Amino acid sequence: MDLKQYITVVSDYPKPGIQFKDITTLMDNGKAYKYATDQIVKYAKEKQVDIIVGPEARGFIIGCPVAYAMEIGFAPVRKEGKLPREVARVEYGLEYGTDVLTIHRDAIKPGQRVLITDDLLATGGTIEATVKLVEELGGVVAGIAFLIELGYLNGREKLKGYDVLTLMEY
Ligand code: 5GP
Repeated sequence: MDLKQYITVVSDYPKPGIQFKDITTLMDNGKAYKYATDQIVKYAKEKQVDIIVGPEARGFIIGCPVAYAMEIGFAPVRKEGKLPREVARVEYGLEYGTDVLTIHRDAIKPGQRVLITDDLLATGGTIEATVKLVEELGGVVAGIAFLIELGYLNGREKLKGYDVLTLMEY
């Protein structure tokens, strides 16, 4: 299936000059959403993952159906102040300033094989920070899966040494 036909490219959103890849039109289509999910499930099975981890909010959209299909757990990575119990935290750089991501300290057991999911790989900053959280808890990053990779931003450079699956490239 050609998944790109279900992505809507929105010019000048959220800022002038940005060509935003809107995945909601893929999610709207049950067959396309299932097809994309099935590709990631296949990959997760090959990588023998024990648990899925994804950053808010679109990482949940990709990771949760995979976790459901595999009957394994999903651990959310959230912005600071959103998780109620003890967290690991990591600060990471944005274009302007920094942001913080957190995960519950008991979300991953040492040695568990983790698949990280998100909708889109741009500069790689979000997932680099997520990898740090997983590894701080003793998890093994067995793979990282995205719907979309913006190849021209070289996000893979930040993820060197990790196995990365992307279903579409721009
Ligand atoms: P990065 O940290 O790799 O620079 O940015 C990736 C994050 O920004 C992802 O969590 C993703 O949801 C969001 N993002 C950046 N650009 C786009 C886009 O064009 N479309 C969508 N759907 N998300 C984007």
